[in-house]
Amino acid sequence: MKASNFFFKTLREDPKDAEATSHKLLIRASLIKQVASGVYAFMPLGHRVLKKIEQVVREEMDNIGAQEMTMSILMPGEMWKRTGRWDLYGDEMFKLKDRKGQDFCLGPTHEEQVTTLVSQTVSSYKQLPLTVYQINTKFRDEPRPRFGLIRLREFVMKDAYSFHDTEDSLRQTYDDMRRAYERIMERLGLDYEVVSADPGAIGGSLSQEFIVPAPVGESTVFKCHACGYVATSEIADAVVPPATPVSRPDLGKVYTPNVPTVETVAKYLGLPVDRIAKSMMVLGDSEPYLILLRGDRTLDEAKMNRLFKQWRFMEDAEVEAVGGVPGFIGPFGLSKSVKILRDKSLDDIDWVVVGANERDYHITGVSVSDLSTYERVSVSAVEDGDYCPRCGSPLASFVGLEVGHIFRLGTRYSEPLDATYLDKDGNRKPFIMGCYGIGVTRLVSAIIEQYHDEYGIKWPWSVAPFHVVVIPIGDALARAEAIYGHLKGAGFDVLLDDRDERPGVKFMDADLVGFPVRVVVSQKNPQTVELKFRRTGATLHVTDNEVVEAISAEVPRL
Ligand SMILES: [Zn+2]
Repeated sequence: MKASNFFFKTLREDPKDAEATSHKLLIRASLIKQVASGVYAFMPLGHRVLKKIEQVVREEMDNIGAQEMTMSILMPGEMWKRTGRWDLYGDEMFKLKDRKGQDFCLGPTHEEQVTTLVSQTVSSYKQLPLTVYQINTKFRDEPRPRFGLIRLREFVMKDAYSFHDTEDSLRQTYDDMRRAYERIMERLGLDYEVVSADPGAIGGSLSQEFIVPAPVGESTVFKCHACGYVATSEIADAVVPPATPVSRPDLGKVYTPNVPTVETVAKYLGLPVDRIAKSMMVLGDSEPYLILLRGDRTLDEAKMNRLFKQWRFMEDAEVEAVGGVPGFIGPFGLSKSVKILRDKSLDDIDWVVVGANERDYHITGVSVSDLSTYERVSVSAVEDGDYCPRCGSPLASFVGLEVGHIFRLGTRYSEPLDATYLDKDGNRKPFIMGCYGIGVTRLVSAIIEQYHDEYGIKWPWSVAPFHVVVIPIGDALARAEAIYGHLKGAGFDVLLDDRDERPGVKFMDADLVGFPVRVVVSQKNPQTVELKFRRTGATLHVTDNEVVEAISAEVPRL
C-alpha cells in the first residue's frame, strides 16, 4: 500500500472529549472515527487491526473444534420474552417494531437464538457435544458510552456456545475454551489474569473473566500473590484485618449530639472508626432490612445486587415508620417487621458502639456475641490489605478491562426455551450449555493500553496494521520501491510512505501509528538503509538487499 493514496489522516492534538490513552491514540492515529456516541467507523488502519485480531480468535476457536456460523443480528422479541430477558435487559436493548407491529431487537447477545437453532437441528445425544461460534456485531444501548472502543453501543464480539448431555462434557469444553482464550491473549501479546467472576445477567453457576490490567479498566480485581487466589471485587472474599484493640467502655447509653456519621461518632467518643457499627436501612425486595457493618467498611453494590433482586436505601420517613431514628439507627427497638443482617466484617470483633434509635444517643460496649442471632451476610467491599480467604496473605488490587468471559450455564436457557434432546434411554432432556465471549473491538483498546509510549502506539507484530513502513528521503523513491517490493514478496504487510511531506512528519506518523519496523531509505546513504524497531527503539544499518533478512531475524522479538 502506498501512503499517497491511503485513506487516513493523523492528528497532532488529542481529541478534547477523550480521557483514555487508547481513545486518544485511536483517533489521532486515524484508526477510528466517531459516528455517534459509542458508535465508530473503523478506518482502513483500524480495520486491518480488527481483522487481524479476529483471525487470531478464529484460528484458536477452529483449533478446538468450534464451528463458525453467522447468526442474525435482527431478532424477534418472542424468544427473549420466553427467557425473561426482554424485560431484564430493559433499556440496554435496542428494541424496534416491524411494519406489522411485531417486536424485534438488535441482538445484545445470542443465547436465545442459538439455543432455538440447535434445538431445531439436534435431536439426539449422539450429536453432542456441539460448539458453535460467530464473530459478529452486537448492540447495547449503554447509558454512558466512553473511553473510545472500551464502552460502546455497537461492537464486535466473538461469542461461542456449547451444548452437552453431561456436566463432565461441559467441563471439558469449558477447559478447552479457557486454554484457547489463554493462547489468544498470548498471541496478542497481552498481560492478563483469569479471574473468578459474577455470572451477572447471563446467568449460570460458574464464570471466569479474562482481565487485562489497564488504568482505564472498569473491573477491580483482588489478587493474592502468595497462593494465586484472584477474583473480581463483585465476588471476592477476604478475611477482614482485626479491629483496633482498645479498652472496652461500659455497656450503656451515651449522649452523642450532632454526630451524623460514623466518623463523627468515633471522634466524639474518642474511639477508632472500626469500633462503631454502621447501620444501614434498606428496602430489599420490598421488605425492610437493617444491615450492620463494621464502621470502617463500605457496602458493596454488586454483592447487594446478588442478595436482593431489587434494593434501595430507605428514606428517612420510611426509617421512622419502622422505629428507626435517622442518624442514630441501631439494632435495638426497631419494629418486628425489620429483619436484621450482620455483615461478616463483624465476625472477629468483641464489642462495638451502635445507634440507640433515640435522637442524640448511642450505646457503647455492645457485645458482638449479642448480635450473633442475626443472619450473617457478606455485603462489605473487599479492600487492599484484607487477607486472602485461602492462605491468609494480604490481598492487593488492580484495575483492568474485561476482554473475555466464559460461563457454565447449565440449563438456564434450554429449559425456558424447551430445547431438548433424547438421551440413550429415550428420555427427553434439556441441553446443558456453556457460553464464551470475547470483546473483539475492546481488545483493540486493551492492546493499545498496554503497548504505547508518549509518541504513539507500539503494535505487537501479530496485529500491527502494517508490519513495516518504508520512508524514502530525498531522491530515493526508486530504491524504496524496490525494498517495498522485496518485503511484500517475503509476505510482510508494508506501507510505502511516498507522500509529499517533510521527513519529520513521516517519522512522527510512523511513531504515532506504531508500525513495528521503520525503514528509512535516504539519498544521503546510497549504500545502506536504517531500520528502527518501534518496541525497543533499537536501530540497525543494513544494505538494501539485507532488509528482509534483518527484519525476519527480529520478528520473534517484535
Ligand atoms: Zn492466598
